[in-house]
Amino acid sequence: MAAMTRPLLNRRLAEFGTTIFAEMSALAVRTGAINLGQGFPDTDGPDEIREAAVRALRDGRGNQYPPGPGVPELRTAIAEHQLKRYGLAYDPDTEVLVTAGATEAIAASLLALVEPGDEVIALEPYYDSYAASIAMAGGARVPVTLRPQEGPGGGAAGGRFVLDLDELRAAVTDRTRLILLNTPHNPTGTVLTREELTAVAELAVERDLLVVTDEVYEHLVFGGAEHVPIASLPGMRERTVTISSAGKTYSFTGWKIGWVTASPELTTAVRSAKQFLTFVSGGPFQYAIAEALRLPDTYYDDLRAGLEARRNLLSDGLAEAGFGVHRPAGTYFVTADIRPLGASDGIAFCRELPERCGVVAIPTAVFYDHRAQGAPFVRFAFCKRRGVLDEAVSRLKRLAV
Ligand code: PMP
Ligand code: GLN
Repeated sequence: MAAMTRPLLNRRLAEFGTTIFAEMSALAVRTGAINLGQGFPDTDGPDEIREAAVRALRDGRGNQYPPGPGVPELRTAIAEHQLKRYGLAYDPDTEVLVTAGATEAIAASLLALVEPGDEVIALEPYYDSYAASIAMAGGARVPVTLRPQEGPGGGAAGGRFVLDLDELRAAVTDRTRLILLNTPHNPTGTVLTREELTAVAELAVERDLLVVTDEVYEHLVFGGAEHVPIASLPGMRERTVTISSAGKTYSFTGWKIGWVTASPELTTAVRSAKQFLTFVSGGPFQYAIAEALRLPDTYYDDLRAGLEARRNLLSDGLAEAGFGVHRPAGTYFVTADIRPLGASDGIAFCRELPERCGVVAIPTAVFYDHRAQGAPFVRFAFCKRRGVLDEAVSRLKRLAV
């Protein structure tokens, strides 16, 4: 073979190595450490939903290519969910699109809506696929940093990560095409308030921007926090692509059933890109998730209550172990500040953590363009069984001695 002088990976993707989740999960396997890195539950979702998938497989529903937009049963269930929970009416035939997880929905939205050179504003720290999807679309990433407030008691109790609305406004230029939002926000656990979202919406209307909003943690909000879809605010329905997924809500992250709800024009645009990525996926799982979306309210209450208790367990444990703790209002994740432990480089800290005490976490710095801003933060997932979290906490307490 002739010598290849050109790098194999194209320029757009050159900065993206292996995802931090794959790297850290591999480290957990190699060292036998407890994996509080990658956000997936260590127990599966409801038996009856798993059985619904088995039934679909056995009955021959979805074993061949499902329709491009998704099976009608699932699209109808998604539309009913948006109406019942948020008062948002979407036509299942023209305004709902089923995707291979939220990940494909994000990629397809950006590939469809962004011209090379367009600027895309994303909240930093951002979920890693955003940066890669913006790059694949040829867009320019413009990060707006969420900054931690002083905690209520100062000291080890860190506060909420807050969106600076002036900074957001200042980030908009004539090249800005869209704002990529995420609430509840991974990794900080911030749930944007109605007031904050109203300000974002007003800016989007004033500057004629699209909003792509990733709401995969929509049901995972704690302590009375409210999830507000930005599409429900004045002037936003026609300019918003709302993305969600069954992975987190029903604890089947391996099934990769996601969806988009948006105006017919936006849905058609996203479908144009999606059809050449996977075309379709997950036939039998689509039928099962249609049933999941109709679970009674008690399912969601129990899910929230169970996760909130584990959030508290891990947050309290991290504080006892000497970390600064930013208790999240939503998601699977708690952000911890390592400075009270005498450390300052989260990447080095996470690489050493399995050896030091047998636990894996994610360094938040990798989700920042302004890496220094994120250096002292590490993310721990609490979507694990109580016994696993108890053991992790007792191991982490060894760090302080
Ligand atoms: N968005 C966010 C914020 C996430 O944390 C994740 C990972 N769960 C995804 C999207 C990807 O979701 P899915 O597994 O449905 O592709
Ligand atoms: N969303 C999950 C997390 O943030 C993991 C997804 C992935 O592995 N790509 O941990």
